Amino acid sequence: MKFTTIVSGSSGNCIYIEGGATALLVDAGCSNRCLVQALAGFGRRPEQIAALLITHEHRDHISGALRFARRFGIPVYASELTWEKLPFRNDFFREEQHIFEYGMKVGEIEVDFFRLAHDAVQPVGFVFSHQGQRVGVATDTGVVTPSMARLLANADGMIFEANHDYDMLLHGPYPYPLKRRVASENGHLSNQQAGLALRELIGERTQAVLLAHLSETNNRPELALAAVQACLEPFRHHLPAITVAPRYTAHPLIELQTR
Ligand SMILES: [Zn+2]
Ligand SMILES: [Zn+2]
Repeated sequence: MKFTTIVSGSSGNCIYIEGGATALLVDAGCSNRCLVQALAGFGRRPEQIAALLITHEHRDHISGALRFARRFGIPVYASELTWEKLPFRNDFFREEQHIFEYGMKVGEIEVDFFRLAHDAVQPVGFVFSHQGQRVGVATDTGVVTPSMARLLANADGMIFEANHDYDMLLHGPYPYPLKRRVASENGHLSNQQAGLALRELIGERTQAVLLAHLSETNNRPELALAAVQACLEPFRHHLPAITVAPRYTAHPLIELQTR
C-alpha cells in the first residue's frame, strides 16, 4: 500500500490512500487546484479517485469536498449523523449520501472504521487493508478510544495525530475556553499523548508513522518528532520511519514494503 497527507493541520486536512489499482481520499480540506496538483504528483488523475471518505464535519476536513466530488464525480461517504451536519448535504441526492458500513470495500481496499473522541457528532478514524497490509488513520481525537487501540495495533503504516505541545498550548495565545477544548478528552492529542499511544500501538509489522494535524500556533515539527521519539526509546533497534506531515504541501508518498 501507499499513503500520505496532501495537506495537514487546522488549516486543512486531506489524506491519500492507495492499494493496488484503487486510490481514495480521506477528507478534502483544500482547494481543487491543490488536490489536482498533489494527485498529479502521485501519477493520478482526480477522476481515478474511487471515493472520498469524510471523518467528521469540521471545516478543516470538508472545505473542498463538495467542489471536488461534483467536478470529478467522486462518491462521498460519511457516517449517518455526520451527513446530517454536512453543510452541503442538500446538494446530494439521498442515494448519493453513502454511509459507512461494516465490512465495506472500496475497489480493492477494505475499509474498517472506529469511533474517535472529538467534539463532532459522529467522528471516525479508519484502517484500510489491502493484500495483508494495513494503514491506519487517526487524527482529531482527545484520547485513544478502545476500538481505535484494537484496530490500529501493529498496523503496517499509520497517520497519527500529534496536535500540540502541551506547554505551548498552556502558555500560548489561545483564549482559555479554546485551550480547554483542545486539551480535553474530546479535543486533540498532544505530542506526549501521541508518543505514549504509539508506544502501545507500534508492533513488529509497523514500518512508517506519519505525524499529522500539527497545530500551527501550539506546536513545531521538531517538538512533535522529539516527543514521540523519546516515548519510543524502547523500540530504538527496530523503529519505524517517523516523519511529520507538512501543513500546506503533500508529504512524499510512503510506500510500504511487502514482506
Ligand atoms: Zn475536528
Ligand atoms: Zn481537524
